[in-house]
Amino acid sequence: MDQLPNMRLTTQRQIILEELAKVTSHPTANEVYDMVRRRLPRIGLGTVYRNLELMAESGLILKLEVGGTQKRFDATVSPHYHIRCLECGKVDDMEIPVQHHINDIATAACDYQILGHHIEFSGVCNNCSLEQQGH
Ligand SMILES: [Zn+2]
Ligand SMILES: [Zn+2]
Repeated sequence: MDQLPNMRLTTQRQIILEELAKVTSHPTANEVYDMVRRRLPRIGLGTVYRNLELMAESGLILKLEVGGTQKRFDATVSPHYHIRCLECGKVDDMEIPVQHHINDIATAACDYQILGHHIEFSGVCNNCSLEQQGH
């Protein structure tokens, strides 16, 4: 069991963070591994995976709570929404303002202290809808 009293940004983590910040595709651990491997040829998938989990726990990156079987990661940690393609599973940022009033509605509806919310839109991306039309 790794100890993580204070999260030190090791070179590996720094590079993982840099690579993740270059894309807006919300890559899976495997995809991050492919990107990081170009700069750290000897790094293992397990190491990348473990670092991603640690970085998510410490709030450096987001681990996305979206549908699908694989965890996805995001270097944008400020609140924002996502849209997921139901055909290919791709996840994009949804560029609409965060709907803070939803928290008030939820507060009125239950006895929890509401701290936030996540919204995942679902749809069919442009590529997939073109394919469906046989282009
Ligand atoms: Zn798609
Ligand atoms: Zn995002």
